[in-house]
Amino acid sequence: MTETFEMICIVCPRGCRLKAERTADGIAVTGNKCPRGAKFAEEEIVAPKRSFTGTVRSVFPEMPVVPVRTAGEVPKDKVKEVALLTRDVLLTRAYGVGEVAVDNVCGTGVDLIVTADMRKVIGS
Ligand code: SF4
Repeated sequence: MTETFEMICIVCPRGCRLKAERTADGIAVTGNKCPRGAKFAEEEIVAPKRSFTGTVRSVFPEMPVVPVRTAGEVPKDKVKEVALLTRDVLLTRAYGVGEVAVDNVCGTGVDLIVTADMRKVIGS
């Protein structure tokens, strides 16, 4: 039995339109302009992942909302859980860029990191 999938590659801005066919022998991908597209399609079929970007709150009125992102990709079905968790995060000190706000967020093995230098806004 052959399963067919169509998707847009989101690895780079070119946005290739991919077609993937899964058979007992494996997954064959067409439409990709580079090997990263084939890897993306295979992962998308077997275990899709996404990065998360969002915000968390801080106790500092000068910067009450702080941007964060996952340090890597997390399973796609965990993204909503990560988003919900960020509602409960409250930073109580000045974080620098790349500092871990939540380690191993939602048990994904990936950290949630701060993407702004709070010290530039509120001091250290
Ligand atoms: S297949 Fe390659 S060139 Fe096409 S969107 Fe994906 S990463 Fe970009």
